[in-house]
Amino acid sequence: MSVIIAIDGPAGSGKSSVSKEAARRLGCGYLDTGAAYRSLAWDCLDQGLDLEHADTITAVAESHEQLRPLNPDEQRHVVRGVDVTDAIRGEEVSSTVSAVAAHHDVRDTLNAGFRRLVESAPYPGVIVEGRDITTVVAPDSPARILLTADEAVRIARREAEHTGVTAEALVRRDAADSKVVNFMTAADGVWTLDTTEMSFDEVVDAVVDYITQRTELQVLR
Ligand code: C5P
Repeated sequence: MSVIIAIDGPAGSGKSSVSKEAARRLGCGYLDTGAAYRSLAWDCLDQGLDLEHADTITAVAESHEQLRPLNPDEQRHVVRGVDVTDAIRGEEVSSTVSAVAAHHDVRDTLNAGFRRLVESAPYPGVIVEGRDITTVVAPDSPARILLTADEAVRIARREAEHTGVTAEALVRRDAADSKVVNFMTAADGVWTLDTTEMSFDEVVDAVVDYITQRTELQVLR
């Protein structure tokens, strides 16, 4: 059975790129739960569904299970046969995903799917990254990490990605998401790594060190 490594953080904290690189070094799988919420939002928008209607959105979430990539080097996201990898990073999905993620039944459905996926994963470990992984999805994980960074730095990192995401949109999304789950402060037993003044490589090194100290996973490259 795969060990779960849990990494949470706000938008622009660097958690996706850090988690992916740590997974490569440790020969682990990588699960981007934000992409799951984004794919769901894309599907609901594409079908013209009412995003306030929890039962409808939950039913769509149930149909998405098992479609998630775990290989850190092959992160293509497909919904009903459509490659949505680029579309889920766009403005329309980014501005509506929080509404989809606010429904508790939707979260429960996706979380159950994440756990099943990790249980059967063909990797010694899976780094699962999101907002509520350290607290809800995998509170028993041996390595739980909260990546933070000052808001100005997070905005600058997002701008450097040239996704067209504005500072205002990032702050608005964090505020909306914070009403549903707390990912700004660490729960008991969760290690907070403030990356404000750290380079990408320094963050990856620190995260990989922490994981190897707390699990049997080893650095492969
Ligand atoms: O991580 P990313 O910014 O791609 O996440 C997109 C959105 O998915 C978040 O803004 C949040 O609404 C939702 N999300 C969540 N719980 C997670 C991961 C993402 O609610 N574990």
